[in-house]
Amino acid sequence: MKCPKCGHDNPSDTLFCEECDWRLDVPYRPPKKRNPLAFALVSLVVGAAALALAFLDGTEIVGLVLGAIGVLLGSYSINVPRLLNSENKTLCVSLAGIGLILSMIGFILGLIAVVGA
Ligand SMILES: [Zn+2]
Repeated sequence: MKCPKCGHDNPSDTLFCEECDWRLDVPYRPPKKRNPLAFALVSLVVGAAALALAFLDGTEIVGLVLGAIGVLLGSYSINVPRLLNSENKTLCVSLAGIGLILSMIGFILGLIAVVGA
């Protein structure tokens, strides 16, 4: 019996795939493809916006919030391509890394401005 997950040809009396341990009577649905590059780009944009807003007068609080979002998005974008082993892994991780750093600086600058004001 052919495994619905990995395609391995198993003897007909087996219930679990010899190759990947998938239950052979359960149809396999591949996980939804996420686009890690889009996430990385968004975290980069959010990070840059956070940094810019943290510098501007009166928008430090927005920079602070955006910075926090950017840090979350950035760390997510770094982990997703690593887990998915996507083809644009290096690019995604670099973009998300820059976004993460920008967000952190934006967050810290925003925090200093808000606390100091
Ligand atoms: Zn299998």
